This record gives sequence, C-alpha cells and structure tokens, in this order.
Amino acid sequence: MEIRKIVLIQPGREGRIFGKAPAASYTLMRLASLVPDDVEVEIWHHDWEPVEQKLLTLTKHDLVGITAKTLEIEQAEYFAQLARQAGVQAIVVGGSHATLMPEDVERWADVVVTGEAYRTWPKIIEDFQNDTLQPRYDDTEWADLSGVAPLSDRVIRQVDEVRHYWTPMMEITRGCPRNCSFCTAIRVSGQKMRFRPIDEIVEEIERRKIDRFFLTDDNFGLAFVIDPEYTEKLFLALEKLPLRGWTTQAEMAVSKYPELLKLAKRAHMDKLFIGFESVNPENRRELGGKSKGQMKQYHQAIQAIQKTGIGVVGLFVFGFDFDTPQVMWDTWNFAKESGLDSLSTTVLTPYPGTPFRKQLIEENRLIPNKSWRYYDTAHVTYYPKLMSVEEFEREYDKVCRAIYSPYRIAQRGLRALSRHPVRRMPAKLFGSFSTDYGYRRTFAWRHATSLPR
Ligand code: SF4
Repeated sequence: MEIRKIVLIQPGREGRIFGKAPAASYTLMRLASLVPDDVEVEIWHHDWEPVEQKLLTLTKHDLVGITAKTLEIEQAEYFAQLARQAGVQAIVVGGSHATLMPEDVERWADVVVTGEAYRTWPKIIEDFQNDTLQPRYDDTEWADLSGVAPLSDRVIRQVDEVRHYWTPMMEITRGCPRNCSFCTAIRVSGQKMRFRPIDEIVEEIERRKIDRFFLTDDNFGLAFVIDPEYTEKLFLALEKLPLRGWTTQAEMAVSKYPELLKLAKRAHMDKLFIGFESVNPENRRELGGKSKGQMKQYHQAIQAIQKTGIGVVGLFVFGFDFDTPQVMWDTWNFAKESGLDSLSTTVLTPYPGTPFRKQLIEENRLIPNKSWRYYDTAHVTYYPKLMSVEEFEREYDKVCRAIYSPYRIAQRGLRALSRHPVRRMPAKLFGSFSTDYGYRRTFAWRHATSLPR
C-alpha cells in the first residue's frame, strides 16, 4: 500500500508540568530514526499534546505504531479505536506489555510486536508498503547496542526535547544479570548486560545538544562491577563534556568502588537512584541478590556514595510476603536517619511475565477485575500475605503523607542542594526538589477521582 506517513504514539497520563512534559519517548525516537528518509514520520506524545483529535485526521494510508507499558495499555487500545474509526488499517503495538503479554494485545491490535523491535520495525514498514503485513513480529535476539538505531537529525529536530520536555533520556547500558522476582526490565531487556560504545554515546550527546539526562538503563550500577575498565573510560569521556548533570538507577554495590565514584562525580553525575527495595531482611530472596534488607549496610552505602559528592535517592517497595504495616514505618524511620536526598516508596505490583505474578496466580491472590490502569505502583492489585488490602492502603497513605509532606520535601531538597558549591546552587535548585515532587505526584494518583484509560 502506498504510505502517506508513519505516526508513532506514546500514551501518557501526566500531561505538562509547568509548561513541559516530563520526558520524551527515547524508544520512539530511535524507532522513528529507522524510518527511511523518503517516508514522513511523526511522534505524537500524549503528555505533550493530547492525541485524540489528531488521530481522527489519519487515513488508511497511514501506518500507526503505539508503544505502551502495562499501565498505559488501555489508553493504547482507546487510541487504536480512534485511529480505526478514522480509517487506519494497520495499527502496530509494541512495548513492554505487548512483549510480556502478547495475547492481551492481539485482541485489538492489527500487528503485535514483541522484543526490542530494532530488527523487525524496518521489515514492518516494508511489509506495509508491499501489502504483506503479518499479525505478529517477534524480535527474539538482544541487539548488540553498537550502532543500533542512532537518533537521526530529523527526529532530534522534530522532538525538540529542550523546548518540550523536562528530562532528556539517554542509554548507556541495557539488561541486568540480577533476578528480582518483581522485575519486568530483565524480562524485556534480558539478563546479559550490554554496553554502548563510548564514542557513540559522546557523539549522541553532542549532536542532541543536551547538557543533562536520565539514563534509561535498567541497572547502570552493575557496570562498575562487570566492566570497571569500560566504566572508567566512559567517565573520563563524559568529564570532557559541558554537562550540567546526569542521573541513573543503580544498585548499592557501587559504594564499593570509591575511585570510580570520584570519577563519576567528575563526569558530572548528580545522583544515583539506588534500589534498596526493602528494609525487611526476610524479603531478601525476592531481591535478586543486590540488597539483603540490612539497614546497616544501606547506611554505609549511602554515606560512601554521598562522601564523593553524589546524591542518593532511595527506592523502596512495600507489600512483599513478609511485610506488615510496621515495615513501612521502619522504612520511614530509616529514611529520616540515613540522610537520603530523595525517597521513593511504591506498592509492589505484579506485572505480567514476572515470577511474582505467577506465584500470585497460583495462590489465587490477584484482586479480580483490577484493570491495567491500576498497575501504577500506587494501587494495591493483589491480596498481601500478612495484612489486609485495607490495612496496606491505610498505612501506605499515612506513611506517604509523612514522607511527601512539603516540610519533608523541603528538608531533603535543601540537604541535597547543600552538597553543591554556592556558585552551582542556582543550576541545582530545580533538580534538588524535583525528584521528591515527582514521587509525590505518583502517590497522588492513589486518590485521583478517575484514572485516565
Ligand atoms: S536489579 Fe533492578 S533491573 Fe536488575 S533484576 Fe533487580 S529490579 Fe530488575
């Protein structure tokens, strides 16, 4: 079929915050970059600009691709309905939910894409043009990250991240060899850690003209352990760039590498989001070996990292099988004593494809008829073992109100700010408070009068 244009859609429920959307879709930017130059391509991001009206302008000559995680999949289905009403005949759906539960997407998508799609996406475009489109494309290999889907200048210009979005996303590694029972990332990105060539990273940062970013990496911290030589070279290369700062997720093993941490600081690393996950040692089996629920170790790791001038955001999850309401309050007490820069406390969520969900299904513990929009880490979607759903929700609300009170956010933000020299403080002001503010917004979804589909 003759192709008029390709539209790639990113659902979202945050909208704009102070005039900008939170973050552009890095995945769609890369997939759009694989579209041949002679084919028109657009990325529509629902957070930046609602897409409903625009969908109604599409025609049967348009190829529509939607990426969605579990939380967004109902919104994706709604967008697909609108596109179909407009006459679109090829709605392609990929992303983590389609990869982990393709049977749930097959019901309403014309084409389901599983896996990373860097190999299958160009084939889908070709098949659309040749009228040979298949209902399913599986990308079963983990792509070598070298040279994979470099961002094109056309896409960089069109997305205009600096003007439209708060935080540019960037990728350095992908995959994680740990095996946390609740993790979807390794089921999508694999357990072999893959590394992008350093010269490609530097080239991309320069070409995008970004001076700060958040890494999409599943567990960047393991780069310290798995390939310290690569990590050192990376930091030395980033040090030379005029960056304002960057942040990433990591595990606390990084605290054992003080020399690399010092280099990371010189490479403009601002903060590490450390997945401590639980302060309850009984839960250690679920934590894939990276954390053991030992608060003493957590204190030491936080101090060691902060000593190098890098901030620490503590990530915690509530609702493991050994958790009682007391665990939430123990976490809060730990956070107060530990000097964390920011704090995320979320509800354990049984995402498709995870051992945790499999266990709950076997034990008949999923709450019936909870639609996917509740899979947002703010809602309880299963029956916990040692507390009732009501008890879990009540205590979770209380502890989050304490954690995300304006006073506590200000206190942690000022502490984070004080880590920087006075001359750098104006540049670091926003970042010192925005992380906690973002988590406060996530918590607020618990009490939204309606959740967008
Ligand atoms: S360490 Fe993080 S990325 Fe790795 S398996 Fe655990 S949750 Fe997933």
